[in-house]
Amino acid sequence: MSEAMLDLKGVAKGYNRGRPSEVIVLRGADLTVARGEVVALVAPSGAGKSTLLHIAGLLDTADAGTVQLAGRGMDGLSDRARTEVRRAEVGFIYQFHHLLPEFSALENVVIPQLANGVSKAVAEARAKGLLDRVGVGARAGHRPAALSGGEQQRVAFCRALANAPKLLLADEPTGNLDPGTSDQVFAVLMDLVRSTGLSALIATHNLELAGRM
Ligand code: ADP
Repeated sequence: MSEAMLDLKGVAKGYNRGRPSEVIVLRGADLTVARGEVVALVAPSGAGKSTLLHIAGLLDTADAGTVQLAGRGMDGLSDRARTEVRRAEVGFIYQFHHLLPEFSALENVVIPQLANGVSKAVAEARAKGLLDRVGVGARAGHRPAALSGGEQQRVAFCRALANAPKLLLADEPTGNLDPGTSDQVFAVLMDLVRSTGLSALIATHNLELAGRM
């Protein structure tokens, strides 16, 4: 019985298969993230980090190979079942925050919880707690455009953790920030991950950050 949170075996993925523009990105990729483990995914730009994260997070499907989350095979599931697993068990952080511009920081963390069936009062309390923990509680009522890049990314961390996922997938989560801010925001992310005991797979090409995982 595997204790792995995420287990990829023999994953293959290409784009434009069979056409002159074919790109083979993954060939038999194996990867295991144990429960509570924080793994850095380090490779140069274009190597296939995003592709791998999208397959692991059920945002895309592999051409071959298997994906298991918490010991459960994902390959035979319907799109709807995959969406449910993703919503409840996986948190995603991108290089660009992708917060909803028309909503406040608080609402951005509340909305995914409402979509997951949580009541508004409970969702707001959890969102406030998360925003306080990453040091942006005082900005909860502001829209993303009124926040700095580092603050926006902290809100995006809270949104990713809103439904208490088991697995966090992050695609160069501080890649869009200046080095000083990147360092601070990365430390916040590591605190959050370690204090919640989350399993995480974090793509970066910053070897110094990778060394802290
Ligand atoms: P990374 O995240 O390491 O920068 P990606 O997973 O984004 O790498 O991309 C891996 C390769 O696949 C790149 O060569 C990229 O151009 C190509 N690629 C990614 N998405 C597509 C797509 N939808 N169609 C065609 N090629 C793609």
